Amino acid sequence: MEKILVSACLLGKPVRYDGSDKTVASSILSQWQREGRVVGLCPEVEAGLPVPRPPAEIIGGRGGDAVHDGTAKILENTGKDVTQSFLAGAWKALETARKWHCRFALLTDGSPSCGSSFLYDGSFTGARIPGAGVVAALLLKNGVEVFSEHQISMLAERLDADETPFRTGCLRRF
Ligand code: SF4
Repeated sequence: MEKILVSACLLGKPVRYDGSDKTVASSILSQWQREGRVVGLCPEVEAGLPVPRPPAEIIGGRGGDAVHDGTAKILENTGKDVTQSFLAGAWKALETARKWHCRFALLTDGSPSCGSSFLYDGSFTGARIPGAGVVAALLLKNGVEVFSEHQISMLAERLDADETPFRTGCLRRF
């Protein structure tokens, strides 16, 4: 059964920068938890960042790929450069995905780590831009399919399509 890497804040863990969680009330996600498919992780906490911590954004309106190739940085709103911590968190997420053979991830959108469809633009004004954070970018580059919390049904369909041939094969064999 496919394991799914899931942002810990979506599972109710109070690990966000302000000490809050971002619990998703989803019967599908609850079902995956009951089935033992869910591998929860907060990349920023795994990298040693504290809770709470100042908000951070990728600077210059650029995405996670630019941070990985060294052409963009991640700064807190205090001006502190936290690029290396965020990169360490991304590599820990990839390591975890590999350990559990996760081919799918469900990540919190908008985060400079976990965002997959949008980010904040680095101005700390709440302005959004399309793009992926450092975790999503690294997972995608390494073959892990990334979905946001708004795409749980889409991920369920994707999993179903992926596992149906296997189930059919089992039925045929037995
Ligand atoms: S790094 Fe990811 S899991 Fe951790 S608080 Fe931010 S969005 Fe949630």
